Order: sequence, then C-alpha cells, then structure tokens
Amino acid sequence: MMRKILFLSAWFFLTALMAQENTGTPLSHGHYNTDKFKQLTEELPSPNMFRTASGAPGPAYYQQRADYEMKAYLDDRNQILKGEATVTYYNRSPDQLDYLWMQLDQNIRRPNSLSERTKGDGPGVGYQPQKFVETFMGKPFEGGFHIEYVRYPGGTPIPYTINETMMRLDLKDPLPPGASVSFQLKWWYRINDYTITRGRSGYEHFDEDGNNLYIIAQWFPRMAVYNDAEGWQHKQFLGRGEFTLEFGNYDVYITVPSDHILEATGTLVNRKEVLTKTQYKRYKKALHSFEKPVKIVTLEEAVEAEKHFSGKTKTWHFKAENVRDFAFSTSRKFLYDAQAVRIGDRVVLAMSLYPKEGAPLWEKYGTAAVAHTLKSYSKHLFDYPYHKAVAVNARQQGMEYPMICWNYGRVRPDGSYTESTRKGMQGVIIHEVGHNWFPMVVNSDERQWGWMDEGLNTFVQLLTQESLEDNFDSRGYPKDLVPYLSGDQSQLEPIMTQHDMVRNSGKNAYHKTSAGLYMLREFIMGHELFDFAFKTYANRWKFKHPTPADFFRTMEDASGMDLDWFWRGWWFTTGVNDIGVKDVKFYVVTDIPTQRVKNMAKAYGMKVEQFPKMLYLVSPGSEDFRKEMLDKTNPAEDFPILKDYLEKHFTAEERSRLKNPKYFYEVVFEKPGDLVMPILVDIVYEDGSKESYHFPAEIWRLNDEEVTRVFATEKKISKIVIDPREITADVNKDNNVWEEKK
Ligand SMILES: [Zn+2]
Repeated sequence: MMRKILFLSAWFFLTALMAQENTGTPLSHGHYNTDKFKQLTEELPSPNMFRTASGAPGPAYYQQRADYEMKAYLDDRNQILKGEATVTYYNRSPDQLDYLWMQLDQNIRRPNSLSERTKGDGPGVGYQPQKFVETFMGKPFEGGFHIEYVRYPGGTPIPYTINETMMRLDLKDPLPPGASVSFQLKWWYRINDYTITRGRSGYEHFDEDGNNLYIIAQWFPRMAVYNDAEGWQHKQFLGRGEFTLEFGNYDVYITVPSDHILEATGTLVNRKEVLTKTQYKRYKKALHSFEKPVKIVTLEEAVEAEKHFSGKTKTWHFKAENVRDFAFSTSRKFLYDAQAVRIGDRVVLAMSLYPKEGAPLWEKYGTAAVAHTLKSYSKHLFDYPYHKAVAVNARQQGMEYPMICWNYGRVRPDGSYTESTRKGMQGVIIHEVGHNWFPMVVNSDERQWGWMDEGLNTFVQLLTQESLEDNFDSRGYPKDLVPYLSGDQSQLEPIMTQHDMVRNSGKNAYHKTSAGLYMLREFIMGHELFDFAFKTYANRWKFKHPTPADFFRTMEDASGMDLDWFWRGWWFTTGVNDIGVKDVKFYVVTDIPTQRVKNMAKAYGMKVEQFPKMLYLVSPGSEDFRKEMLDKTNPAEDFPILKDYLEKHFTAEERSRLKNPKYFYEVVFEKPGDLVMPILVDIVYEDGSKESYHFPAEIWRLNDEEVTRVFATEKKISKIVIDPREITADVNKDNNVWEEKK
C-alpha cells in the first residue's frame, strides 16, 4: 500500500514536472502580471442606482429636459444674428435646484476671452489681414452674446451672472424635483467669418458674387447638463472640448432674406410657403426617388439667385422632437437635392445643400454619401431615428449637429477635382452624418470625453468606408497609428484624458480609440461578440447620457469577456504593443527515459522501469542527429506505448485522420512592449502552406516578459510571423519574423 502511494505521488510529481517543462520558461524569469490584469475598480466610479455595474442605466437613472421655442433673425448685410427664446426646463433629478446654468458658447469670441488668454502656443503659421489686425493692432473681433434680458414670462427679470462661457440664472424660487420652470431670453451677436476666426459655425464670404454662406450653431444660450455623474457640467468652453447638452423639443422660426434657401434641424413645417411651387413638386418627387437624388434647386436657379440681394424676408419654421441641439444653414447660393432612403419600415430623406463652387463633386457624391451612411450606421448600431439627414458644403468645415452637418469639399475653378478631394469629401460626410449616432443620440459628454463621440464615430466611419469602396485610405486602423505611438513619448497622453488636455486629438481621441475598437472586433472579441456588445451599448444609451464606465462595462457585460486589461492598457496608459519571436528550439520525440527521469527514480529509491512509460521531447543536440532521428521517426508506428494506446482507443479509420507530428518546435515569444496583447502568429511551412494561431492576452498573466508554446507539426516550419496582418499596432517589426536558416 505504501509502495503504491509512493508510486502515485511520483507519478503526479513527474506529470507536474513535465507539464511545467512544456509551458516553457520557469517563473523565475520575468514577473507575475498582477498589475496589467487588475480590475478597474479604482479607476471607474462605483456602480449605483443611477448607473449599474453591468453598464446599463439603473433604476434611478434620470435626465433633465429643456424645450426651446425660439425666433431667429439674420441680418445678412451686417452678419448679425438676433434671437428670442422661451425655455422650459424640467427638473427630473432628485435634487432641488436653486440656480440654473446655461452655456454661452459665442463668448469664446469675445475680445480677451478665456480661450484667448489661455493660448500658449506662439505665432500662427500665417495671418490673414483681418486676423492680423484683430490679433496685433488692437481691433479684436467683437464677438460674444449680448444678452438683452432674462426674465420670467410675466416680465420679472431673473438675475444672472456671466462667467466667461457660462451663465448662472438665480431663480426666485428653488426648482424642486419633478417641477419645471419657464423663462425668456433675448440676445444678439456678431457672426464670425469662420474662414478667418475658425470655429464650428459662422459664415463664409464669396468675393466674386458678394454673397455669404451661413452655418449657424451655438447661436442661442443652451442649458448646461445636470446629472448624477457631474452635477452641473459647466466646464468652460475653450474651443477643443465640444458640447454637453440635454434633450428637448424645439419650435423655431428663422427669418432670412426671401431669396435664401435654408435647412435646419427638425421638420420644416411651412415647406409650401417657403419653397416655390416647382421646388415643392420636386421635393415631393424626391420622397419616392430611392435610386438617385432629385434636384430641388438647380444650378441655374442658384446661379441666378446669387446675382441678386432681396430686401424682403421669409420665415422658415421648424419643429424637432427629442434632439440635443438645433443648427441651421442658409444662403442664396445653395443648390439643393434630396433622395429617399429606406431605413427599417421608414423612409428617411438624404439631402445636400452646396454652392456652385462644390457642385460637380456634390451633385455626384454628396447625397449619395449621406444615403450610404444612413444605411451602414443603421446596420451597425440602430436605425436612424430622424426623418432626414442634411449635408451642407462649407469650406474647410467638418462639424455635426442633429440632422444637419457642415462638410468641406470644393472643386477647382474649372470644375475638376482630385481623387483625394473626392475621398476627403465623402469621408467627412460619412463622419459628420455618422455623428447623428454618437453623440447626437447616444448623448455622451463631449466637453469631458472627446473619444466617446469622435473615437466611436471614427470606427463606424471606417466600417462604412470599407463598405463604400475598397482601399478608401480610411483613418482609424491600428497600423497607421504606429508612428504616433512609437514617436515622442512626451507628447502622448492616455485616451482617458479630458479633451482640452489632449495635444494630438486626431491621433488620440479619434484614431487611437478607433484602432482600439478595431482590435477588439478583429481579434480580441471577434466580430460576433463585439458587434452584439457594441450594439447593446448604443441601444442601452440612445437618447441618454452614457459615461466611459457605462461603455466599458456594457462591452464586457454583453460579451462575457473580461476586458479590463485592454481598457487599462489602451485607454488608461500610453503603453505600446511589441511582441516578437525570441528563440526557436527543435525537439525530437523518444520513449527512452531522459536523464532527468532517471534522477527522479533514483531520488525515490525506485528503478526507472517502475515509472510509467511516457514519451519525451528531447533536444537533439546536433543538427545531424536531428536529421537522423527525423528520418526514422514516425511516432504513431515507432513507439509501442503510443501505438498500443491508439489501437485501443481508435479505429483504423479514425487513426488515419489523426495528425502524425514529426517536428517539434518550442517557440519563445518575447514582449518588450508594456501592453499585454494577444499573440497573432502565422506558421509558414517549407511547402509554402501556413497555419494561423491566436493566443489570447491572458497568455501573459503569469509572465510579462516571455511565454513559450510548443508546436507539433507534420511539416517543417520555414518561417514564423507575428502579427502578419499588421493589426495589433506592434511598434517594432524587427523582432516579428523568425526564419529557418538555410
Ligand atoms: Zn467628429
């Protein structure tokens, strides 16, 4: 009995020893990887009744609502916008509010604004005369809101305090939970020439015909967001970090010169009044035109209109429900076309407005790009919820609002354009129309987190461009991010950085986020798990306000994957991925007990024959001996212990289908990079065939520096390639390939 127990323990000891040999490098090399796989409990806010640990809105989730009834008047001669609003604010929070905060974004263009005073980046590349005068000659652009009144509907003034781009309204009576308050505002501001001052709105002037093209946004005092995550989100507008906005209903009258064509967020209520009979008929036709756009305003009509300047006015009336913002664009230069797109069981209108300077490009690709975006994004996320999507052609622009966006893309004077102009224009339309999902509907806090709208959107944009055309030269792939990641490390910051603090937003918030999502979909989660989880996130948070934790948690909750290591590495650090092949060792198989086994037997006071019979991988010592062994060895035939086992457990037919490996390789993978990452590896055989392997990131959990795998193959390996498709943002390719010495 004792003898048998001793024997068994030797057996287990031996088995354990063999197992450890097979997993390669002992743990004395490298170190346990507790940090990189540690859960994000310290980085993420604690789940609560508002936001659950699964990443979904909780039972106490709430959001405020702000409805706006507004009138806007455009003074086209002086580029001034005047506005009046009645705002109704609904307090659905559990908190009593003594005051309200509104955003005065136009105040970024006040002389000596906070944004101006906090610029620390030296001279510009060059200065247009107006900009030079504004900057250095004491005549700054006099932008910013002029507030004429803030009052209750009866006329009682509401005291207010303006702090740069934010305004606090001190309510007469505190606003209790569940109550609403209405108040009125009147204001005006000078519209900026955005081609000089930059910005996400303004006008573009055309010297040849004296006309302006207006893209009007951030044009009214907007309610700041109040929520469970931030309280009042009233972080100042510095120009980079975009907007944080409540949903609400809009009823807006916009008065412009009578010869303007105008589009805006929402449903055009008085279409019959503002369009000519002919234009109205064409619009009706567009509702049934699924193949190509119908021109509502033609080139001839637009060219004729830009020769005149009407002294009369016309009022356009729009209504929009459950949107987070309202923008419009107006000019007498506009051509205008529209096409019907079927989304689910609804018909959505894709539309474009563009001056003749963009016409040859936009007639062909503008509305078509809008239509393609609506279909593609609806497939990847959820059906487009609004009745229309409008793309406006505005020089140098790329900016998004609910249902309407501004996009660059002009032709040369002779009407020609390059392929890169064409792709750039399609790309910006896809991107800006795509923003209807993130952040217009999945309404994240842009002021805080640029990546939550820009990065997620850049990723779906990439998928949308892939389905539009092969080799579109999309931004957002891991490979193209390598120069940024491996460049000047002092210029990098984690994705989880407030957007105004990000130096290279294009690379960080847009590209790195997109590349991260691409990696998750391509090889960390796979398409099926990723697509389900990503859709779950979008659907859980549509028409709501998600935070980063809600995204991270939902992606794990819906996929059944612990991704904390990936969020930690890719989102919270600036670490890079670098995996390589460090060493390849050859083995042959034998049934002769190795010296190690003999030593063990001796230590247990046993004879080696008393040990169970096993097969051993042994290093052949010399290349000649290896060849000799390989010539002889056919494991399934040559080793009685294996042969007996096979015959006992498998039929001849089954045996013929088993692999019969002859070559045994121990491959040591090294990881000089900080990040843990799956190992993607192609094994190429001497006959040119290959096999692809994928080892999940958890392979690094016990050793952060190197791991070892044994490959048993029937054919000789000629080459081992790490990350063969270049999809892991591996910053150093020098160690990615091992080749058999010839
Ligand atoms: Zn964007």
